[in-house]
Amino acid sequence: MAEFDLIGMIRARSRALADARDDVVLGIGDDAALLRVPAGHELVVTADTLNAGVHFPSDATAADIGWKALAANLSDLAAMGARPAWCTLSLSLPQADAEWVGGFLDGFLELAAAHGIALAGGDTTRGPLSIAVTAMGHVEAGAALRRARARAGDDIWVTGALGDAAGALVLGGHLPPPGAGADASVHAGADAAVPAASPSDAAFLAARLHRPTPRVEAGRRLQGLARACVDVSDGLLADLGHVCARSGVGAEVAVASLPASDALRRVFGMHAIALQAGGGDDYELCFTAPPALRDAVMLALEQAGVEGTRIGRIVAGSGVRALDADGHEWHPPRSGYIHFL
Ligand code: ADP
Ligand code: MG
Repeated sequence: MAEFDLIGMIRARSRALADARDDVVLGIGDDAALLRVPAGHELVVTADTLNAGVHFPSDATAADIGWKALAANLSDLAAMGARPAWCTLSLSLPQADAEWVGGFLDGFLELAAAHGIALAGGDTTRGPLSIAVTAMGHVEAGAALRRARARAGDDIWVTGALGDAAGALVLGGHLPPPGAGADASVHAGADAAVPAASPSDAAFLAARLHRPTPRVEAGRRLQGLARACVDVSDGLLADLGHVCARSGVGAEVAVASLPASDALRRVFGMHAIALQAGGGDDYELCFTAPPALRDAVMLALEQAGVEGTRIGRIVAGSGVRALDADGHEWHPPRSGYIHFL
């Protein structure tokens, strides 16, 4: 199958989504797409690239890769409080493999349909497997959630649960177990065993890794409530560090208060904390808000259908301090995401 036929297949399968939006003036098929941003709104644009072996394990299915490629982008739009509208898809493929692209589209278009987002264009080339998605959305002018607006005294919140994706990577042998020593990134699992997991817990964690849920509705409803917001893709402490650096403030996080799924707690016990604080690929939102707005934040998240947990507060100064249940400083075995082994 030639590149031309692949584009035809992508166009045919994504057409209904584009036709459903009257702000797609011109979609796939011309030299560029024409998209209409509503009056009084700002265009929100984000891009993410997934490379085989780096951003997804080589055993991930094509459909999972398709879902995740779009999910990572929608999560960035969510963190801005934007309404997703359109996307582009650039595929670099070792060969014109219609079966793989078909599987990829199954996952990609399932998530696109769930958010009513249209595929408006892209590029198809030959090369090492790589997927670059650009997602676009819009937000009322001036209303976007930014990283730079946290203030001392703000509560720090996180949606959903943390650490599930990192837990799945450990179970799959792609990350060292959290009990491993300081040089664990060099000697994977040399001094800690991969814990046992029931099939249903393993399946739950794997689904959280491969099919993350971008918190789009939560981001929308946090407009006017959250001061600063970031999506957790590199690990909570690392991403919160970005908010602090951009806002010129510090943060204190109570690691015992970090939300975890039942599955993660069952499988990893006390070691779950390292995965929650420093794992990556969570695609939850971490945001700050004034304490006076606690009830309003809870209500907004409830309406968005996601849990919210207060995990700490913004302080004067700089940097993120993680504190254990006794108030002592807690040091992560690693903060931030470690690429696949
Ligand atoms: P050009 O050479 O002018 O860049 P192409 O032949 O690469 O055009 O693409 C033709 C049309 O198909 C364009 O509208 C382009 O946006 C679209 N397209 C190409 N590859 C993809 C893809 N992977 N996903 C979605 N649209 C694509
Ligand atoms: Mg052209």
